[in-house]
Amino acid sequence: MKEILNYVNGQLQAPLSGEYLDNIDPSVGEVYGKIPNSGKADVDAAVHAARAAFADWSGKSAKERSRIILRLSQLIEENLEELAMAESRDNGKPLKLARTVDIPRARDNFAFFATAILHEEDPFHRMPNGFNYTLRQPIGVVGCISPWNLPLYLFSWKIAPALAAGNCVIAKPSEITPYSAFLLSRLCMEAGLPQGVLNILHGTGPSVGQAIVEHPGIKAISFTGGTKTGEHLARTAAPMFKKLSLELGGKNPNLVFADADFEKAVSTSARASFTNQGQICLCGSRIFVEAPIYEKFKEAFLEKVKRLKVGPPEQESSRMGALVSEDHLNKVLGYVALAKEEGGLVLHGGKRIKLEGKYTGGYYMEPTVIEGLPYNCRTNQEEIFGPVVTLTPFTSEEEVLEMANSTPYGLSATVFTTDLNKAHRVASLLEAGIVWINCWLVRDLRTPFGGVKASGVGREGGFEALHFFTEPKNVCLEF
Ligand code: NAD
Repeated sequence: MKEILNYVNGQLQAPLSGEYLDNIDPSVGEVYGKIPNSGKADVDAAVHAARAAFADWSGKSAKERSRIILRLSQLIEENLEELAMAESRDNGKPLKLARTVDIPRARDNFAFFATAILHEEDPFHRMPNGFNYTLRQPIGVVGCISPWNLPLYLFSWKIAPALAAGNCVIAKPSEITPYSAFLLSRLCMEAGLPQGVLNILHGTGPSVGQAIVEHPGIKAISFTGGTKTGEHLARTAAPMFKKLSLELGGKNPNLVFADADFEKAVSTSARASFTNQGQICLCGSRIFVEAPIYEKFKEAFLEKVKRLKVGPPEQESSRMGALVSEDHLNKVLGYVALAKEEGGLVLHGGKRIKLEGKYTGGYYMEPTVIEGLPYNCRTNQEEIFGPVVTLTPFTSEEEVLEMANSTPYGLSATVFTTDLNKAHRVASLLEAGIVWINCWLVRDLRTPFGGVKASGVGREGGFEALHFFTEPKNVCLEF
């Protein structure tokens, strides 16, 4: 049994209630560890420690904070294999994906923000009779709450800029995938992060998550998760005038025009649909294909999908592992049933897979492709967040833009075309925070990241994140 502990004031400690929750390995469907069931008392203790640490941490030079955070990044690299195994076991994702994407990205997040703070400039505004300069000061104690789909990747995407900017942090990973965040606490101790600067609390959203959002001593909340949870958070935090960054759900369109590089469109669309079992907020779950190539695309796409091997996460050949939990698997299967009721035709997949041997209780599912649904039905409007995509033909740019923009969400979109003018025209008309042209999930950490409409409020990434975690203060002097 792997027992996880909270990280408070530089120490690993049990939850104050002494209560624990089960941690389940989705690849086999069995309990393999215990995680703290933390609550308000743990948040109080963590805030107390963070407040005590703030003056010293925020008073350090950017160079000194950078040195400590870079050491943490280096330790992630040195412990990459252990972290990747923890991530894969908690989440069900292929070990290969954790090793090549999740953990390297967590390492890079810390290195990126540790060095970004060395390059910041303070604005200066001259007047005839004086001048202004703007100080960007850390907020104080801030909260970071993250989901289960890219556990350490998204956890570090928040913590790294918050710490680099000089804040002290109370962070909560998802209770479904806590293990890599626990290993990170140990690395923080090894890296020499001063006590109280980062506090990691484990437990459920309604218990410890809610206590973080409600705590008057926590001045800003950076949250990534579902849109419903985001709504609830906003209702709790807004009357307290907390700064809020909300990265929420998506229902991303993938537009394939007839003039696209066909091979690239097919293979990238397959990757965009099923990487991480379709459990990435940026996955393209609605594929719109221009009518002249619809049948050809469908055939080639199905060919690719049939070759995607669903298997045990640690097996090198597995392209898809297990879904994160039984509840989530049932939710996704429920959407397949709904799609059929709505008149959809399942072209491939749609069912749970029972692997052999010890994996028989794991939460595996076939990659699923559905066609024949109206663009405005529930299957095409609601976030499924699993290995399910729909195919829909279109006949004009206007029509596909109307269908693409019809959902409440606006996170990302992908466009495949070789017509440069069309690519940029369509990109500017898509309601999304990120548009990829002829590619998917290509990331430059300096760029703004976030969504519009029900996909969120605010942007992460680059200086946007450092600005979220600081308050500008203008200082004006008259000659
Ligand atoms: P979730 O909203 O259920 O949980 C996210 C986090 O919030 C977890 O740590 C959870 O414990 C916590 N939480 C739940 N209730 C809370 C409360 N009342 N107060 C405070 N914290 C609370 O989301 P999930 O199921 O873990 O993740 C999947 C969702 O995340 C999907 O909708 C997906 O699109 C979204 N997501 C968005 C992005 C993005 O960048 N926009 C990235 C990844 C995932």
